[in-house]
Amino acid sequence: GYRSRAAYKLLELNERFGFLNGVRRVLDLGAAPGGWCQVVAKKKREARIVAIDLLPIEPLPRVTIFQDDVRAPGMADRLREALDGPADLVLSDMAANTVGHKQTDHLRTMGLVELALDMAEDMLDEGGAFVAKVLAGGADAALMARLKQRFRSVKHAKPPASRKESSEWYVVAQGFRAEVEETSQ
Ligand code: SAM
Repeated sequence: GYRSRAAYKLLELNERFGFLNGVRRVLDLGAAPGGWCQVVAKKKREARIVAIDLLPIEPLPRVTIFQDDVRAPGMADRLREALDGPADLVLSDMAANTVGHKQTDHLRTMGLVELALDMAEDMLDEGGAFVAKVLAGGADAALMARLKQRFRSVKHAKPPASRKESSEWYVVAQGFRAEVEETSQ
């Protein structure tokens, strides 16, 4: 069994997109209670996993756990150091605590997605993947443009394990381009 229902969402997304193939280093942002970590650890016995959440995560073999805010100063450096090499996969299941004001909730959650993407761009190896929870409507135009510039494939998906009435979707970006040429236009 898994610690979270979210584990099944990751399994379904991987079934469809195969982003867990061959991963050696994985960063899991907003990882508590640790269902996604369990999925990765079970499928990839050799993988090094670095996980962070505001909430505690019960220890798991081969998972380095940080109980902290991803927005804390210096956090990216600490996570990069723990990974001890370029990541093959950056996961983010983070959502902001909702305040019930639709626009505010949307902005706060997109802020976390952008921060996750900052870390992904900073830490991913060539060909790596980024999987993040976004809200209904998916990534907004600016975020999509950024994703499409850095990844060869960008898709939105709602895994069957995600309740139909929930507004969550996932963006699955694969084929990271570590080096991007500046465009002249
Ligand atoms: N994928 C996880 C699993 O399978 O067990 C479930 C993750 S849960 C849906 C989202 C998590 O994001 C929450 O545990 C929350 O504490 C975390 N989160 C939200 N904002 C965060 C932040 N600023 N820094 C770290 N974690 C954050």
